[in-house]
Amino acid sequence: RKKLHNTILELKGNIRVFCRVRPLLPDERSSPEGNFISYPSSVESLGRGINLVQNGQRHSFTFDKVFAPEATQEDVFVEISQLVQSALDGYKVCIFAYGQTGSGKTYTMMGKTGILEEKGLIPRSLEQIFQTRQSLQPQGWKYDMQVSMLEIYNETIHDLLSSNRSAPDVLRAENGSPLKPYSIKHDANGNTQVSDLTVVDVRSAKEVSFLLQEASRSRSVGKTQMNEQSSRSHFVFTLKISGVNESTDQQVQGVLNLIDLAGSERLSKSGSTGDRLKETQAINRSLSSLSDVIFALAKKEEHVPFRNSKLTYLLQPCLGGDSKTLMFVNISPDSSSANESLCSLRFAARVNACEIGTPRRLT
Ligand code: ADP
Repeated sequence: RKKLHNTILELKGNIRVFCRVRPLLPDERSSPEGNFISYPSSVESLGRGINLVQNGQRHSFTFDKVFAPEATQEDVFVEISQLVQSALDGYKVCIFAYGQTGSGKTYTMMGKTGILEEKGLIPRSLEQIFQTRQSLQPQGWKYDMQVSMLEIYNETIHDLLSSNRSAPDVLRAENGSPLKPYSIKHDANGNTQVSDLTVVDVRSAKEVSFLLQEASRSRSVGKTQMNEQSSRSHFVFTLKISGVNESTDQQVQGVLNLIDLAGSERLSKSGSTGDRLKETQAINRSLSSLSDVIFALAKKEEHVPFRNSKLTYLLQPCLGGDSKTLMFVNISPDSSSANESLCSLRFAARVNACEIGTPRRLT
């Protein structure tokens, strides 16, 4: 356990970026029009470089890791399992999936339901955490775990575990008058509290898997021209971990946030009008707030604009200081997505260049 701790410390203080290219889907084409992507040739040669050629021009990027389309869910999980484990050691961990709609974010995070080998990072992380919890019992460790799941849609929070699922933005009182929307606060210990959010005590990965099914049923899902099941909201899964060692009185408080971000595509491609246009604008605003925060942290600026979006304000305690952040940039290999892929890769490259140093003032 001590050894594990040391390895984790080496990872501290940096935003890691992993790039994952999904396989071509049956109706997609790889490389007409002179656009193509080249990446590591096999899973074994898990590389760091990815090239995208668009209109004859070559763009090269380097990330902490690049997963080729053949990489399985297990291959990906192996690379993040230590990071997940560090939440049990008392770290605040955030893992994001960023990319255009249809690039494989939900596949990476949740996987395919019902197919064991295709389980995503969220169920795999939970299984590992509960297994580790059990294996640490003989050393005197006792852990309490609490789960909450929410989505942020058009800058409003929706509790995915609330029984009042039909009210997405603001809970309505029985007489029809609006109640206060969920508000976000940070307590003196730097923990996030969301008023009235359902928080469930969990004792096994199976219990969490049941809650995940509940939550995915109540997610707001919209239809765009790009993907019928596209998700237009940010999904935030939070596991709070409190551990105490009964022999040594040591205490740890860790948090694991797993975030499936809304699609990063720009307006023109999603054919948005009306409500959909409003959604897309809200998504673009909150994704740019996330990057503003990451870049401000990287530049060690005095003022970090956490409050500019619900997402960044919610995650504030987990983004600065000695927290650990990993971003997956998900890429579609389809040549018609080359433009969006280039935007995602550029965004991710800027994020990858960031280093987060000492804890900063919470604004
Ligand atoms: P997003 O969440 O970014 O909108 P999805 O995760 O829904 O995208 O992926 C789009 C489609 O591609 C889905 O049908 C999904 O099952 C498939 N897919 C994505 N990544 C992979 C992968 N690595 N292997 C196999 N199929 C994938």
